[in-house]
Amino acid sequence: MGVMQSLVPDGAFESLPLPEEEMDVPAGIDSDMVESIDQERLPLRRWPAAVAELYRQEVIDRLYREEHFLFLLGLLLCMATIAVDLIVNPDMLEQGAILRVVAVAPLTLAGLIAGARGWTQALAFCVGAAPIAFIAVIVHLALQLPPDLAPRYLLATILVVGIANMMLPYSLRGLVIFDASAIIVATGVIALHGSEFLMLYADTVVVFALAAAGTLPVAGRFERLRQHNFLLNLRARIFSRELLKANHSLQLLSETDPLTGIANRRCFERQFETEIVAPGEHGRADDLIALMMIDLDHFKAFNDTHGHQSGDYCLKLVASALQDIFDEAGGIVARYGGEEFVGAVRKREAAKIRAIAEDVRQTVAATLTPVCESDRSLVTASVGVGVAPAAIMLPREELLEMADAALYSGKNEGRNKVVIVEAEGAFIPPRPAD
Ligand code: GH3
Ligand code: MG
Ligand code: MG
Repeated sequence: MGVMQSLVPDGAFESLPLPEEEMDVPAGIDSDMVESIDQERLPLRRWPAAVAELYRQEVIDRLYREEHFLFLLGLLLCMATIAVDLIVNPDMLEQGAILRVVAVAPLTLAGLIAGARGWTQALAFCVGAAPIAFIAVIVHLALQLPPDLAPRYLLATILVVGIANMMLPYSLRGLVIFDASAIIVATGVIALHGSEFLMLYADTVVVFALAAAGTLPVAGRFERLRQHNFLLNLRARIFSRELLKANHSLQLLSETDPLTGIANRRCFERQFETEIVAPGEHGRADDLIALMMIDLDHFKAFNDTHGHQSGDYCLKLVASALQDIFDEAGGIVARYGGEEFVGAVRKREAAKIRAIAEDVRQTVAATLTPVCESDRSLVTASVGVGVAPAAIMLPREELLEMADAALYSGKNEGRNKVVIVEAEGAFIPPRPAD
């Protein structure tokens, strides 16, 4: 008994591993991670890398992908302002139109191409550069107007920067950089016209900067709401993933025999219908269905002689060997209860069914061979098989009854035997002489 105990393989019968779930949340992200981001109100740069990456992929990239609408709208607005030139100063109509086409249109076009090709960096650049180019054009045109008209024209820059702060897919930091660049470019264009313009339009530049700064908090709030929304959604997805996992574990547990780790009777009944009776494209109408009851012989005596723990170990070994046989045969097997196992196969040739049943009998007999001289197996099994053509759709219970009757005969014939009972139409070749 001691020798047998030491033979029990460590962890050999642990529960089956989980199959890879097709989940849309990366495996490394759990609910604690998301919880801590939300509770500590962490900024994006301090989020765990996996969550931040997912946010970029699912939210930011999508915002960028939707940018073609913004580009077209921006270009349309830019061109529409030519009408303002027409009203304010028709003399600069041509120059204004050319500047718009030369400065803004190429950046818009480049942005649209970058968006279509998935060049995120280039797209991120163009999406900010196009409105800044437009601001430069407005400032340049405004400075050619009389000083009383120019500030009114320059108001358009405030509109552009305000709209951009609301619509651009940048983070708050990105928007600060965008606004600062816009102010620097506007001031630079003014300076290029002459340093005296800097003093003249200093107040306009300050209003421009204030407008940019004033819309930033709203943009920041937008960003926080976007992030909060994403985290809420992510948490819901993680919960449903955990639920699916728990559900899967429960199903495994409810369909697994705890001692041997193979399927239990409940699992067998389900699989019999799905894999044997309705095997999909693998099955043919002229197949035979065989159900095998496998009962260990004199197992009570085995327990009495070697102890219950050795009996358990023996059951595990037999279960594992049976699993291999039925896996290879494309069938199913389960522990039916106690020292009884049940297997099923669907085969075209009756001879194959007999061969599998015979393999089962011989494998069990070879499972535990005594160390001493005697060549008698320590454990054997009787196998009762019920066979019926798949086409007659015999209920499982009837096949079981046939297999049980066959098993009873096998026990009466002296055990360690295969006995097959056939339903009408299922011809099984006679057993070769022992
Ligand atoms: P037969 O050849 O007629 O089948 O004789 P048997 O002794 O195998 O049949 P019986 O129904 O009299 O006894 C079955 C034995 O199987 C009794 C019980 O101790 C043993 N058994 C059932 N379940 C377990 C188990 O989980 N572990 C162990 N070790 N033994 C078990
Ligand atoms: Mg029994
Ligand atoms: Mg028995």
